[in-house]
Amino acid sequence: MASIIADISKLCIHTQTTRPWCLRECAEHYSKAGVNAITVWRNVLEGIKLIDARKMLDDNGMQVVSLCRGGFFPSVDKAQRQTAIDDNLLAIEQAAAIGAPLIVLVCGADGRQSLEANREQIKEGIITILPAAKAAGVKLAIEPLHPMYAGDRSAVNTLQQANDMAVAINSPYVGVAADVYHLWWDNHLEEEIKRCGANGHLFAFHICDWKTPTLDFLLDRGLMGEGCINVPQIRGWIEETGFAGFNEVEIFSSIYWQQDQQAFLQKVIDAYLHHS
Ligand code: ZN
Repeated sequence: MASIIADISKLCIHTQTTRPWCLRECAEHYSKAGVNAITVWRNVLEGIKLIDARKMLDDNGMQVVSLCRGGFFPSVDKAQRQTAIDDNLLAIEQAAAIGAPLIVLVCGADGRQSLEANREQIKEGIITILPAAKAAGVKLAIEPLHPMYAGDRSAVNTLQQANDMAVAINSPYVGVAADVYHLWWDNHLEEEIKRCGANGHLFAFHICDWKTPTLDFLLDRGLMGEGCINVPQIRGWIEETGFAGFNEVEIFSSIYWQQDQQAFLQKVIDAYLHHS
């Protein structure tokens, strides 16, 4: 069991967690609350110049941990696959411009073809964008998603599959993002976390909680401590690998997004300190 978290120096918050806020509001409010690390979702970059985004982040002393998200590679339609490649190349440019060293990949799935075909196209897609990622100095993290998304959001559903893919691609620029929401149920989790770390592929760690009952399978994530995930135990396994990165709070919640975001931010910090 991991020890209690002493402070918020390793806390990173995803902009999507406080979705009603624009990038400036996220940077300013997080910074005022003492949180100095941020993962930027691409929606908050819409309508602003990348140079201005970078300045907002710098002015508030924010360290950018990741850009979310790239991916969505597979499709039965070849033109659609090319559109995805182009979008991922744009994500690499955006990441480099705002100082994000990593892009998280939600790999995608097309329900009109087999899981195996989807996984092959995911691997091909990552290999295709890899030279641009290397040139920009931006790493790519395969994020395995809970199997309930295997038909439409990702055909990579376990940490074992993500580890296998990172091993097959075999590049220092390709690793894995481990998210407790997607992986907590897996009886091979501890050994696959160890394997991921030993391979040098553990690039990111995302936390939240799985509420029971879950009312919506996309937008009803809970604060740490509100559900059934043993976040401290999984964090302990992550830290045992030597992982020295951030604990990234990523909560999509149509319930919390309706509430006052300043009060919600304080709840995130409290949950982080007491239940992570
Ligand atoms: Zn995640």
